[in-house]
Amino acid sequence: MHDAANDPPGCLQSGSGPLQLFNQLQQDDERLAMLKEAIDFLPIGAGITISDREGKIIYVNQAEAEMHGYASEELLGRPARVLAPESKAGGRRINRQTAGLWKRECLNLRKDGMIFPVQLTSLPIRNPGGDYLGMLTACEDMTQRKLCEQQLKTLAYYDSVTKLPNRALLMDRLHQALALAQRERRELALLFLDLDNFKDLNSSKGHEVGDKFLQEVAARLAGCLCESNTLARLGGDEFVILINPVPGDEEVAVTAARLQALFAEPFLIEGEVLYGSTSIGIALFPEDGRDVESLLRSADAALYQAKREGKAGYQFFSQEMNQVNMRRVALENGMRQGLARGEFYLYFQPQWDLKTLRLTGAEALLRWHSAEFGLVGPDEFIPIAESCGFIFDLGDLVLREACLHAVQWDSFFPGLKVAVNISGRQFRQPDFLETMACVIKETGVRPSSLELEFTESVIMERAEKNIHALQALKRMGVKLSIDDFGTGYSSLNYLKHFPIDAIKIDRSFIAELVTDSDDAAIAEAIISMAHSLKLKVIAEGVENDAQLDFLVDRCCDEAQGFYFAPPMAGEDFTGYVKRFSEPEDQSKPLSVAG
Ligand code: C2E
Ligand code: MG
Ligand code: MG
Repeated sequence: MHDAANDPPGCLQSGSGPLQLFNQLQQDDERLAMLKEAIDFLPIGAGITISDREGKIIYVNQAEAEMHGYASEELLGRPARVLAPESKAGGRRINRQTAGLWKRECLNLRKDGMIFPVQLTSLPIRNPGGDYLGMLTACEDMTQRKLCEQQLKTLAYYDSVTKLPNRALLMDRLHQALALAQRERRELALLFLDLDNFKDLNSSKGHEVGDKFLQEVAARLAGCLCESNTLARLGGDEFVILINPVPGDEEVAVTAARLQALFAEPFLIEGEVLYGSTSIGIALFPEDGRDVESLLRSADAALYQAKREGKAGYQFFSQEMNQVNMRRVALENGMRQGLARGEFYLYFQPQWDLKTLRLTGAEALLRWHSAEFGLVGPDEFIPIAESCGFIFDLGDLVLREACLHAVQWDSFFPGLKVAVNISGRQFRQPDFLETMACVIKETGVRPSSLELEFTESVIMERAEKNIHALQALKRMGVKLSIDDFGTGYSSLNYLKHFPIDAIKIDRSFIAELVTDSDDAAIAEAIISMAHSLKLKVIAEGVENDAQLDFLVDRCCDEAQGFYFAPPMAGEDFTGYVKRFSEPEDQSKPLSVAG
């Protein structure tokens, strides 16, 4: 039996193969089988060292030497620990005790001082009497694998756009934080953020700008939070902040307000100045949810409320929100089915000219006769459709249907106009103009019998850009009006730049027209201002003689409201139009009130 440990260092040439060496070291069949197994087990290209019982290297292959930045000759005779300083202590112990393969991950040291991760597989070599003779060690460079693992971990747990923790990591942290808070009887706060109108920014400016916007938002948010808080991106324009621990409700409110203030400064992205804001829903642990799912649900419900209250605000969760939220989710889920089942209908509310006393047209108003929820009003389902993007399908349906009706009525009441409400998201779709042109062409509607209604806030939001879009619509020949005038942040100065035909006084001013002098003054001012800008004025929600008299007196051009007729189904409106298209009835519009 050859005892390699007794050979002088360097007597084994690095070129001699390990099997050959072992044949010298060990003739025992069982041992040989084990060695073969070990060698079979070694990954291709692994570095191999054999050290003697003192731990000195007596054999090293080229791969091992190169991996550590040495020439093979430099290593022979040197302690194996020059390669793996970290594994020394454990190695000694194992040398003496272990019989089989011993695997571990550790850090090895290169000649140039660089440390790198390796996987070592060692096999102690013993003589038949069991005496320890030395160690065969295979070394695998793990740098690449560790890098891949790290990348995979990053992919699995971090959002690629903002580099923030993603939903999976947030869930992990939430579960841990809740368990700890429960044990220590502490409070947590979960803030659910949703950027206002981000989807429109994304679709109008492109995803690259959208991504940069999100990155900037993430950086601002992160800069305003302390380390113990978790900021995560759930996806899209949704961020979640876990405040842990919570100093008190008031501090949470202060934090929410501070987060919103981060949006006061415009965002400069690719040379463009962009504005943004965020709505925030807040849920507290444990009172608003005792587990992760219910806490998130509560924060989401609070967020929805914040959006409903006009965006750029924050709301704490309250129990009533749960009901609202459950219905919202149910409606959102039921909508697509409703569309497929043909549950959406257009109703039409007549509009009358107050000077000529003639029927001028109708406003198309959407109704949802849901098999599941009964009649759902547009005030409830339109905001939901807007927030989930379903408005694109609905808006398309409304446009086409309204145009088809307009074509039909035009045949026996030429010039009758049909007004269609256009949602902000619909208008901001990059292909809105093409869609319009396409609908006009496909339905054969006379463009001048189509009037598009935009709310003030939609028009004013991106005023400069909107002017071009509105001009393009005007060139197509359609009429344009501003809906719910007086409720938004109208800039009268801007109004004259918009190529619009009419403004509609919001029905909230009409309701108290006769009893509230402020409302009367506002209505009067709107009429005279509109006239000075050569715009037509349409009053909404006219319900009684007194309101009508007031409006006629102030030379309001047109009106609609229950006084004339409520919105009615298409066929009913056809009958209505026929009735007032007959010459003898043309002078009796105001007698239609019940
Ligand atoms: P709007 O465009 O301001 O529509 C006028 C609303 O006033 C209608 O409510 C109409 O039914 C109601 N109204 C009419 N006359 C009277 C009256 O004399 N008194 C009172 N109190 N109300 C009256 P509706 O149909 O519930 O629609 C509510 C809102 O939903 C609409 O307000 C509009 O903003 C939106 N909407 C309706 N249909 C559509 C649609 O197809 N697309 C979009 N984007 N929005 C729609
Ligand atoms: Mg309207
Ligand atoms: Mg209106």
